Amino acid sequence: MTYIVALTGGIGSGKTTISNGFKKIGVNIIDTDIIAKNIIQYNSKISNIIKKKFGKEILNTDNSINRILLRKKVFNNKHDRLWLENLLYPDIFQESKKQIKLIESNWCLWVVPLLVEKKLEKKVNRILLVDLPIQHQIKRTVKRDQISVQEAKKIISLQATRKERISIADDIILNTKKIEKIHKHIYYLNFFYSYLARKYSQQTTI
Ligand code: ATP
Repeated sequence: MTYIVALTGGIGSGKTTISNGFKKIGVNIIDTDIIAKNIIQYNSKISNIIKKKFGKEILNTDNSINRILLRKKVFNNKHDRLWLENLLYPDIFQESKKQIKLIESNWCLWVVPLLVEKKLEKKVNRILLVDLPIQHQIKRTVKRDQISVQEAKKIISLQATRKERISIADDIILNTKKIEKIHKHIYYLNFFYSYLARKYSQQTTI
C-alpha cells in the first residue's frame, strides 16, 4: 500500500514547480490537473456534455475544448464553476484511485488543488501545502497567465482562503524563497515521507 501525501495550494502558488521537484528525485506523482486535462480532451462523453453546455464560445477552431476559455467562462459564474467541478470530480477521483493502486513505491504525491473545496482531507495520510502571500500569488499568476490583476484577484477570491488551507496542512512549503532553497526542502521532505510511509503505510485511505 502506498502512503498518500496530498499537495495542495491556490492558483499560481507553485504546485507544479514543487511537484516537478519531487518528480526529479524519483517520487511518483498523480496530478489531478493532468487527469482533468485528459478527461476534457479524451473522454468524449464528458467533453460533449461540456460542449453542449457552453457552446462555441469555449471551442478551438478544430472543435476541441479550449481550456483557457473554459476556465475564463467558469470563473465568471459560480454556478457554472460548481457544475463543471461536479461533472469532473467523480472521474478525477476514480482515475486518481486507479493510478495510486498501480504505484509500487512506499509513498506518492497526489496533487489536488481543490483538496479543501472538495473536502478530500480525510482521504489522504498527510497534507503538504504550498503557501504564498496573496500579493506574490497575484504577481506570479498575472505574469504566467497574462491576465489582469483583477482577474487573478477574482479567481483567488473564489478559491479556499489561505487561512482555511493552513488550518488543514500538516506541512507547509513557503514558496517565496529561491528555487534552490525550495529544492533542499523537497529533498528533506522526501526522506521524512519515506520514513512516515514505512511506519504508517497500512493507514492508506483513498
Ligand atoms: P496552477 O494551480 O495555476 O496550475 P501552480 O500552483 O501549479 O499553478 P506554478 O505553475 O508551479 O503554480 O507556479 C506559478 C508561477 O510561479 C510559474 O510561473 C512558476 O515558474 C513561478 N514560481 C513557482 N515557484 C517559484 C519560486 N520559488 N520562485 C520564483 N518563481 C516561482
